[in-house]
Amino acid sequence: MANARKLLCELIALPSVNPAFLPANDPRGGEQRVADFLAATAARAGLDVELQEVFPGRANLLTRLSPLGKVRQRILLAPHLDTVGGDSPGIFEPRERSGRLHGRGACDTKGSVASMLTAVLELAGSRQRPAHTEVVFAGLVDEENGQAGSRALVAKGFEADLAIVGEPTHLRIVTAHKGDLWLQLETRGQAAHGSRPELGTNAVHEMARIVDLFETTYAAMLRKRTHPLLGHPTVSVGTIAGGSQPNIVPAQCHINIDRRTIPGESESRVRREIKALLRKHRLSATLLNIRNAPCPALETNPNLALVKALLELARQTKPLGAHYFCDAAVLAGGGIPSVVFGPGDIAQAHTADEWISLRQLEEGTRLLLGFLRSLP
Ligand SMILES: [Zn+2]
Repeated sequence: MANARKLLCELIALPSVNPAFLPANDPRGGEQRVADFLAATAARAGLDVELQEVFPGRANLLTRLSPLGKVRQRILLAPHLDTVGGDSPGIFEPRERSGRLHGRGACDTKGSVASMLTAVLELAGSRQRPAHTEVVFAGLVDEENGQAGSRALVAKGFEADLAIVGEPTHLRIVTAHKGDLWLQLETRGQAAHGSRPELGTNAVHEMARIVDLFETTYAAMLRKRTHPLLGHPTVSVGTIAGGSQPNIVPAQCHINIDRRTIPGESESRVRREIKALLRKHRLSATLLNIRNAPCPALETNPNLALVKALLELARQTKPLGAHYFCDAAVLAGGGIPSVVFGPGDIAQAHTADEWISLRQLEEGTRLLLGFLRSLP
């Protein structure tokens, strides 16, 4: 299956950095070049192609392989088309070295794009096609930032019996991943001259106690909660800002925290528990969510027939969990049972020297093709 390798080289050479990580109008920004290239590739193979605009000039690419008979179920293959940025020289030139292909997106997640589309193209060109399963390949935009592509797909009412979301899982089936909440806390004090601090109330001091509480007591509380595939939830104080100059008692301070959730920890539950914790320690702060879209945890039933079949094919006795958030939870939130699967290792994702093992790329394509061929 040399095609996946060739396709991946072509994809790395077409930069599709998420515009959120670049200055406006940077020539490396946006997914359109990749979407257009894949649309042309799919159309040449006789597949139906649809571009679903998400933002001006940024569209999800959908291509469909109809079954021989009536559609009774639908499988969605859903990798994302965007990548993170990077300034390493030659990062957009695919380079092959000792069984590895290097370049931005090699594993996150153009490797999955190449594997998944190659499997669909192989299937389209063969006589061994499912009789009643429609296979839809959806190259999604904006996963690396706000997941607007997957959110638009489910908002338009797209339905499927299983989504396989392409991310570098080392060809393991992932049925659960953590959710992610970004919360901002603000403390308010009373400004005063720095020479008379007793006349003011120091908002930075109040916040310092809150930071300590989160990093010690709250973190310990969370370590006691555990999920069989995901371990425990976490909290991390990511940023802090307060005060204006040394000789003024600060009237205001805020922090942004990253709270990784496990299934069952809803945003409202987390907010309630933080407020209760602050009250108990006689601390006060206002709490805001600074994400404009929800990022819940993923938990898909591994006993669903399609998930079981996929696990068996991958010779995996039990499913795995992942720590990172991805499109799978968004699709699952829209009612599509979702798993995460793809060639490559997440350890190489977002690094200055991103690469993928070519053996994994081929093995991934073979596994996906085997799965699609096994469907009724
Ligand atoms: Zn990714």
